[in-house]
Amino acid sequence: MTHRIVILGAGYAGLRAAKRTARLLRGRDVRVTLVNRDDRFFERVRAHQLATGQDLRAWRLPDVLAGTGIDLVTATVTGVEPGTRTVLLDAAPHTIRYDTLVYALGSGADTGADTGAVPGVREHALTVADAAGAARLGARLATMPVRSDFLVVGGGLTGIEVAAEIAEARPDLRVRLVCDAPVGGWLSARARRHLRRAFERLGVELCEGARVAKVGPKEVLLGDGRSLPADAVVWAAGFRVPALAADAGFAVDGHGRMRVDERLRSVSHPEVYGVGDAAAGRAAGGRETRMSCQTGLPMGQCAARDIARERTGRRPKPARIRYEWQNISLGRRDGVTQFTRADDSPVRAVLTGRVSAWFKETITRLAARMTVR
Ligand SMILES: Cc1cc2nc3c(=O)[nH]c(=O)nc-3n(C[C@H](O)[C@H](O)[C@H](O)COP(=O)(O)OP(=O)(O)OC[C@H]3O[C@@H](n4cnc5c(N)ncnc54)[C@H](O)[C@@H]3O)c2cc1C
Repeated sequence: MTHRIVILGAGYAGLRAAKRTARLLRGRDVRVTLVNRDDRFFERVRAHQLATGQDLRAWRLPDVLAGTGIDLVTATVTGVEPGTRTVLLDAAPHTIRYDTLVYALGSGADTGADTGAVPGVREHALTVADAAGAARLGARLATMPVRSDFLVVGGGLTGIEVAAEIAEARPDLRVRLVCDAPVGGWLSARARRHLRRAFERLGVELCEGARVAKVGPKEVLLGDGRSLPADAVVWAAGFRVPALAADAGFAVDGHGRMRVDERLRSVSHPEVYGVGDAAAGRAAGGRETRMSCQTGLPMGQCAARDIARERTGRRPKPARIRYEWQNISLGRRDGVTQFTRADDSPVRAVLTGRVSAWFKETITRLAARMTVR
């Protein structure tokens, strides 16, 4: 009987898994189906570029999948029923049965919906975690008059990249970055120094050690009672995964990410693989995987290899997730590349300035090519 392999999500992890599985099992009695909300692959790592009006390459999935034998279903996944091995969709064919499932639905902006949102975030804040959010932010930026106040909340990788990109694209705006910890606090001293110099050059004001207590239409209130003017706010305080895995009864961690074993299979349902942002895997040194395309791509690749080895009766191998750097863009002409140990902890070596910007652009292009090839 034909073995049905269904992959949910066509981001870095899911698309990579689909293409690799189809290639490794070409000629075998398998059927590979890829389900995605829309019919294109979006380079999420470029969401801040989309928001600032830059032209991004459109990767149409029908083109990317041509000649692979993969069936594309464009629909939103609304549920998974592990008992009957069925995926539920909001559009035709409405249900799909699987023998092996790859869960790769990624993540979105964490606006605190589950954990108790800061008042006003949902009503007034913009996000930049996906194409739709980035497009809305772009539309808002396009109508913002000179000297408007723009506020970014979150001092992680996304907040840093968004604040720098906006400040470079719109030097006429007053851009502030608010975060409750020192910005880039996890980086080496040299990387942090460069980050500060870049923000100074770009005119980004840093408000560190500040917690946002409320977001209003024209201002943001901080926990210490201060208020900051804000004609627009971007909420970049982390990513959140869909509740689908938890709702389906798969084992999840405290953030709703699917818990997976060393082969990336669900610890509760071994016929299901979890990859990318939506899964909590283990990287070198036993550290939890970081949500990144750096993680999603090798996870997608390892899941495909494991599925192929199992289908062809070969011994499975554990997935190997190792880090080498964190690439942070600071606009289009500057950046910081923090080299890391395999467990993602920083070492002294960094690249800065144009060399880092060039390196990041090269790696970003390579990541997209690896995903679609
Ligand atoms: C501004 C920004 C900058 C970033 N920079 C970097 C960087 O420099 N380096 C780095 O490594 N990472 C970076 N990231 C993080 C990176 O983009 C993500 O970690 C990565 O995209 C995760 O890959 P994924 O395949 O797990 O999920 P995604 O890329 O999010 O793909 C998930 C796919 O599933 C689809 N989907 C979701 N829900 C459903 C549903 N219910 N039904 C059907 N389809 C669905 C989505 O449409 C999407 O196609 C950045 C993110 C942002 C927002």
